[in-house]
Amino acid sequence: MGRAFVYVILGGGVAAGYAAQEFVKRGVSHGELCIISEEPVAPYERPALSKGFLLPEGIELILGTRVKSADVRRKTLLTVTGETISYKILIVATGARALKLEEFGVTGSDAENVCYLRDLADATRLVSVMQSCKDGNAVVIGGGYIGMECAASLVINKINVTMVFPEAHCMGRLFSPKIASYYEEFYKSKGVKFIKGTVLTSFDLNSDGKVTAVSLRDGSKLPADMVVIGIGIRANTSLFEGQLTLEKGGIKVNGKMQSSNTSVYAVGDVAAFPVKMFAETRRLEHVDSARKSARHAVAAIMEPEKTGEFDYLPFFYSRVFTLSWQFYGDNAGEVIHFGDFSGKTFGAYWINKGHLVGSFLEGGTKEQYEGIAKATRLKPAIEDLGELERQGLGFALTA
Ligand code: FAD
Ligand code: NAD
Repeated sequence: MGRAFVYVILGGGVAAGYAAQEFVKRGVSHGELCIISEEPVAPYERPALSKGFLLPEGIELILGTRVKSADVRRKTLLTVTGETISYKILIVATGARALKLEEFGVTGSDAENVCYLRDLADATRLVSVMQSCKDGNAVVIGGGYIGMECAASLVINKINVTMVFPEAHCMGRLFSPKIASYYEEFYKSKGVKFIKGTVLTSFDLNSDGKVTAVSLRDGSKLPADMVVIGIGIRANTSLFEGQLTLEKGGIKVNGKMQSSNTSVYAVGDVAAFPVKMFAETRRLEHVDSARKSARHAVAAIMEPEKTGEFDYLPFFYSRVFTLSWQFYGDNAGEVIHFGDFSGKTFGAYWINKGHLVGSFLEGGTKEQYEGIAKATRLKPAIEDLGELERQGLGFALTA
């Protein structure tokens, strides 16, 4: 049994949705393009986990179907249902999977009141677990994006939250200690408790198999009606190991998002691509890069002569409670903070090898965010850090 398509998108997430939109915008004939996704629904905007599906008409959708092997030499994919799908061009948009506690030697995270959050099914489950423990206690494991965003949502839903993570401060991959401290104090004012510098070692389970408490390495035990886990992700590269060049945990691609096999492109969280402005290969785990890399790959496939190298300015953001921040560039080098850390608007610049390479702003206006993006893109030389600190946000707005 088999079907053949010109273009196959493997994966049904954000990058897949944007790639499909771009194909349709540029014109594909009926039946030329197929999306294969393990999820039972069409691609959707993951950050909101809303049901705003991304898909235009006229595309063959093979949903609820996992691809179990790929043969890039023969240009075929084999699904778990035993179907062989062949392609001329493949776009790999398999994203990533949430890391499981079991991978750190802890058992029991399959209990019904323990939640991970990656897809729509996880989100639906998380909401139902949350609704069943009104006024109860949640333990949030991990101090990254999922931990911070879920903790805020749980508090808003009147759940008592304790966050547990191994680092000295939250959002260790991005925030400086000073920035992190602002958010931690804000969270504390909303009732969130922090237990830092330790990890979960085991769960207490009742006779129904539900978690009732978590034990930590520091010897403490926390009562828990539910547990949310956000301890990072791994890119879904396994289908292509030994067939495509991998780097930084992802599929290595060039500036056209093309892998080491010229018929295979990779986009979104699974792609490790050259970030021109840092002259380095990076794998990013954010929605803006998923959308733009997907569009770029389709442009490179359909109009190769007109499409240059992907030139991407990394962009991350989050919104929690009444707070909202944006970050552009790279958080490498020395940090210069500016603004009012006891007020609403403050930020930071990162200076590496004499150039401004990254900018962070909390509580900015649209124009201010555009300003820091533009200034970061220019990578201006910085001679006097004290002067930069004195000028603060004004520096970016006049750069
Ligand atoms: P995904 O969206 O993960 O899609 C991968 C798809 O591939 C899935 O449909 C999966 O089922 C499918 N798949 C994988 N393997 C197979 C296989 N073998 N066979 C068939 N199908 C397969 N980023 C931000 O910048 N801002 C935010 O506010 C933000 N919020 C987020 C909130 C949540 C809850 C989550 C989970 C992520 C958030 N992100 C955010 C990150 C952002 O959603 C990801 O960077 C983005 O989804 C990556 O898109 P992707 O298409 O590469 O991967
Ligand atoms: P993350 O990498 O942001 O954070 C992982 C956190 O896990 C670390 O900060 C650390 O505190 C913790 N940790 C690591 N090992 C641990 C262990 N053994 N025990 C306890 N804690 C441990 O990953 P995440 O928060 O799980 O987010 C998953 C993905 O979703 C990421 O790719 C992220 O970029 C994406 N996401 C992004 C946004 C956004 O951009 N606003 C929002 C939600 C999710």
